[in-house]
Order: sequence, then C-alpha cells, then structure tokens
Amino acid sequence: MQYLIGIDVGTTNTKAILYNLAGSALAKASQSYLLYQEEPEMAEEDPEEIFQATLRVIKTVILRAQVSGQDVVALCWSAQQHSLLALDYNYQPLSRVITWADNRAASLVQQLQKKGQALKIYQRTGLPIHPMGPIYKLLWLQQSQPHIFQQAAYWVGIKEYLIWRYTGQLQEEQSMAASTGLMDLKSLSWCPQLLDLAGITTAQLPPLVPITAQIKGIKNKYADLTGLNSQVITVMGATDGALSTLGLSGNQADTLTINIGTSAAVRTVTSQPKLDQQARLFCYPINQSHYLVGGPLNNGGIVFNWAKDALFGEQQTTASLLKTNDYELLNQIAATSPAGAHGLLFHPYLGGERAPLWDANARGSFYGLNRNHTRADMLRAVMEGIVFNIYDVATSLKHIVESPQQILATGGFVQSALGAQILADVFQTKISIPPIRESGCLAAMFLAKISLGLESDWQHLNRYRGEVTSFQPQLTSSQHYQELLPIYMRLRQQLTTEYANISAYQRKYQNEP
Ligand code: ADP
Repeated sequence: MQYLIGIDVGTTNTKAILYNLAGSALAKASQSYLLYQEEPEMAEEDPEEIFQATLRVIKTVILRAQVSGQDVVALCWSAQQHSLLALDYNYQPLSRVITWADNRAASLVQQLQKKGQALKIYQRTGLPIHPMGPIYKLLWLQQSQPHIFQQAAYWVGIKEYLIWRYTGQLQEEQSMAASTGLMDLKSLSWCPQLLDLAGITTAQLPPLVPITAQIKGIKNKYADLTGLNSQVITVMGATDGALSTLGLSGNQADTLTINIGTSAAVRTVTSQPKLDQQARLFCYPINQSHYLVGGPLNNGGIVFNWAKDALFGEQQTTASLLKTNDYELLNQIAATSPAGAHGLLFHPYLGGERAPLWDANARGSFYGLNRNHTRADMLRAVMEGIVFNIYDVATSLKHIVESPQQILATGGFVQSALGAQILADVFQTKISIPPIRESGCLAAMFLAKISLGLESDWQHLNRYRGEVTSFQPQLTSSQHYQELLPIYMRLRQQLTTEYANISAYQRKYQNEP
C-alpha cells in the first residue's frame, strides 16, 4: 500500500490527514499554536512553533493510521495566505511571522491609496488594498523596523519556510506568490517595478514554480523524527483559499463557494483574470488558466462566538446541564425568533471589515431595537447579519458569476441547520453543504495525485467529497429578507461616515478600567 499526506497550515492550527491512494482518510491530527498580539493591530506567529506542530501532526497521523511512514509517497502543503518572514543569509528567521491578520501597515496603505499607488498595485497583482498584503508589510518594516529590513537576505511566507526546513530547497509556488502583491498577474513572475517599490530584489525572493512542482526527498533528521521516508516527495501545494475552492467547486466557473469559519470568504474560479473596478475583490492566479476571484471577510463565526459570550455567557451551564453543546442550544434559542428577528438588523463589523467595506475602523451595530426585542431576536439578528454581509460581498461578484448554478458552503457556521437555512433564504437559492470539514487537506491530497499523474481533472475530487446536504429556500423567510436587505444596505452606506470617529474614541480610552 502507498499513502499521501495533505497538510494544512492555518492561522490557529495545523492539520494533517493521511490518505490511501483511493482517497480515503485513514487518520487525522491537528496541533494549535499561539497568535502573538502584544500590541494593537499586531498578529504574529512563531515559525519554530509552527514547524514543531507540523512535525508532530505528520508523526501522529502515521502512528494513528498504523501504517509505515516509509510507504508515504508524497506530502502536499496547503497554507494561510499573506504571511511574511525575514530570513538571514543562513536562512535563520530574523523575526516572527507577520500574518494576514496583522494591521500595522494600515496608515501606510492609506497614504499609498491617496497617492493612487495602491490601486496600481491592485491592477498589477490582484491584491486588494489592505495591510494584509506582504508588499505593504515590507514597506511598513522598512520604516518601523529598519534593522530587520536591512539584515534580511530572503523574504518568504510560512509555507516556503516550512518546505525549506524539510527539504533544504527554497521555492515559492504561484498561488502563494499571487497573494504577496509582488507577482505580476499576467506574466506570473515577480514584478521588478513592485520589488523596487518595496525596496527588495528578485535574489531575495524564492524562485517561482507551479503548484504541482515537486521536491524529491527530505532531510534525514526529519525523516527520522516523523517516520517519513527520506525519499518522500514534497508537492509544493497552494494557498488554503485556492485549494479549498478548487476542491469544492471542481473548477467549475458557475460555482460559488462560501466559507463561514472564524472569518469568511466568497470565492469562485475563473479562466481569465477578473479585476474589480472598485478593487473590492481579490484576483489571484493559481496558474495560467485558473484565477481565484472573491472577497475575504473578517466577520464570520467569530461574531457568533462574541454573541454567545456577550449575550448568553451563563447559558453554558444550562447547556452542560441539558447535555447539549453550546452551539446546539444557541441555535435552538435563535430559532425561537422568526426570520427578520422582528425587524432587528445587525451589521457585523466587530473586527473592522475587509470585503465589502475595506475599512479597518468599521464597527458593529444593532439597528431597529424596540422594547419587545429579546435576546433570542438579538442572536437571530447576529446570525442574519453575518449572512447579509456575505450576501453583500457575493453581490459584488455578480459581474463574474451572474447566476451561480451551484453554491457550496463550508465552515463551522453552516454545520448549524439554522445557519445553512438562513443562507439559503437570503440567497434565495439552494445551498449545498459537503460533509467534509478539512477541505484544505483533502484538496492538498488531490493536488498531490495530480502532480504524481494519478489524477487529471479537479472535478474528480467530487468522488472523495461525499454526499452534500442541501437546503432549499423557504418562501416566507426569503420574502422577509428581501424586505430587510435594502434597509440593511442603505444603513451600511450611512454608517460608514462615523466609523473613524467611534473607533478613534475606542482607541483613545481602550486602556481605561
Ligand atoms: P476555522 O475557520 O477557524 O477553521 P471553523 O470552520 O471550525 O473555523 O468554524 C468555527 C466557527 O464556526 C466558530 O467561530 C463558531 O462560531 C462557528 N460554529 C461552529 N459550530 C457551529 C454551530 N453548530 N452553529 C453555529 N456556528 C457554529
């Protein structure tokens, strides 16, 4: 027997799944690590902690599957986008990894936006105008941490660093490079003008390779530590967004994928680059004929968790008494309020917002409260607000996927039947939920098969995905949402004028008891 490992390096944890060549998952493991947020807007991770986590999950899946690591033929990597790490001449990290969630480059982005340069970067690369982009992080580091900037011999993301640790080869695949803001969207090569702007050279970046590229063999010491064969093939892999979208949609242009996990994303795959005139959508090449287009949102399930704690903290005890889990109980409570939550609206921008607002100062709000509203209404309004926000982003994708033939939704939020039903009712169309949670690992395994010549067509991934559960729109609920959505949209326009003021006030007094 031969096996494959799909490994997915996320923001809060790394997951690995060991599969047989028929695509059945034999064992899973995950390992979490810290996100360092010691100062406002900072979000860093320790590259060594992540590396150790990958060693552990690989070793664990081999042990749990009770197979010989010598029979693992390939491992393939999926990873978070937009991370940045400085290495010295000996490839040693000079800092922690700056993740996508780090907003310290925000004021610099505003300056470039005023000068019109940020829009040019978008048009050249498909990277939305936001401090998450490594090009902006480089400019910020140049100003704020010049000692690191000057010492840096190489600039990489976390995936390139991990693959270097295992194999000794520094390479970057194109889907990950696309999200740096340094790669030209059309030529799929590093863009000399943008490198100049960022103050770096091509020699400081890894050479670019396709997502299917292979590296033969890993270092003996890591083969010994994990149980892998030292001849195992590393398939470069791709970003988690690219892999899960290709994996779910089977590369069909008329399919929209929606992920509502901690954050959220609406994505589709196109065969041509599709830029948005207002720069609201990303457009990341995966290869010459596939482009990932969509919008990333900050406020997914994390907002539901806020509502859980802020509105229902004490209900956890009730949940344990009832022997049901918190989410089940909360879904039952929210379901006691009707569609539209008795006219209560919620704008969910608690963590600032990327798409559709691209405003780090955005804040959340309830609108329409009256004396009859209950906590159940508030909870339902929160769930509906999360979905309205996603619908808002999907609307900006209309010129790309006019009438999606298929909407596939994943992530913790749609594990709730109520969450999935609200999605179907707001979108007024059937929503399909695949049974698998770890689409990143699955798609990485499938990419390994493509790279090894064992598969040729992404649509075949459907075979491994399992039967979807479908939710049909309900007429009465949909009608309520059709009435409320225009109010929600108009309010979202009107509220934007005060976000800078209220967030400035919050920052000013944030340390007061
Ligand atoms: P991640 O993006 O971090 O991998 P997940 O896909 O596991 O996250 O989703 C986690 C989010 O899903 C949580 O923030 C939580 O709010 C939400 N969630 C999980 N289970 C449920 C549920 N049964 N009902 C509603 N929301 C849920």
